[in-house]
Amino acid sequence: MTDSGLTPLSPLDEQLLRRAIALSARAASNGNMAFGALLADPDGNVLLEAENTTFTEQNALRHAETNLVESAVASLTPEQIATATLYTSCEPCAMCAGAMYWGGLNRMIYAMSEQDLLDITGINDHCPTMRGVGCRNVLETGQRDIEVSGPHLVEEACAVQHDYFGTSPEDRDLSDATSGLSPLDERLLRHAIGVATRSVANGNLPFGALLADPAGNVLLEAENSDITGKSPLNHAETNLMRLAVERLTPEQTATATLYTSCEPCAMCSGSMYWGGLNRLVYGMSEHHLLEYTGANPLNPTMRGVGCREVLNSGQRRIAVSGPHLVEEASAIHQGYWSS
Ligand SMILES: [Zn+2]
Ligand SMILES: [Zn+2]
Repeated sequence: MTDSGLTPLSPLDEQLLRRAIALSARAASNGNMAFGALLADPDGNVLLEAENTTFTEQNALRHAETNLVESAVASLTPEQIATATLYTSCEPCAMCAGAMYWGGLNRMIYAMSEQDLLDITGINDHCPTMRGVGCRNVLETGQRDIEVSGPHLVEEACAVQHDYFGTSPEDRDLSDATSGLSPLDERLLRHAIGVATRSVANGNLPFGALLADPAGNVLLEAENSDITGKSPLNHAETNLMRLAVERLTPEQTATATLYTSCEPCAMCSGSMYWGGLNRLVYGMSEHHLLEYTGANPLNPTMRGVGCREVLNSGQRRIAVSGPHLVEEASAIHQGYWSS
């Protein structure tokens, strides 16, 4: 029914998805949110295009995909819709996924994930991205199979969002989207990225983490030790939390911040919860990492529920900030997993 998202796109799909990403940039230049979508027939001919129009129509429901499906229902035959593919710059929200189902679509390809978007928008009045159940969970609850493929071309799609949310805050008042990293946090996160580099030099995978007290003093550092420790459980953050439980007081851990080069997986997030941590700052996202590792057996990155989902499913609130310093954090992964 669905593929993993790791299957390479065909050249035709890639070309059409890239065109949807271009539509997302055009939507932004037309004064709307940066989302675009299109429908193409099985030969790759574009049948319809749509942009987000939430601002120009002053209607928060005017998402690109819903706009597109509404035009399709109004102007195409059911047969045309049933055999078409919808390409969208970003994983559709629950509303748009439902529109695809009810509109009769059977194939959809998306670029960045909803979680990628949430990582960029954060909590934002203009674009209050849902903490998505994921489009597959919506599309697979219907009574027919809808083929879904994504995420794909994530960096290209994210670049449009970064341009959008990173500029013209005076017009858009989207300061929440890029806020959150103090100079102290930035210095310590960069230090954690340095620990990831050291992990590679020591024969392990490119992940590093540290704990710092509220004044910014480094209490503990940990590298990944999957390879030298001969255990696939030896992630940097879990190693770090094991050290913290042994060497720090509960009060020290409770007031510390954990900095990690990459968003922690579910196991490491659980270690943080059970270990008594209350604040986390991370570099690149788990979804971004998945783009690099693919199915590499050394690190078959989870198609994460996201560390926030794990950390905030507990009985106390854990502050989470990320992604940050993404280019610096991801540099070490470029070429690492494919070599
Ligand atoms: Zn939507
Ligand atoms: Zn982990």
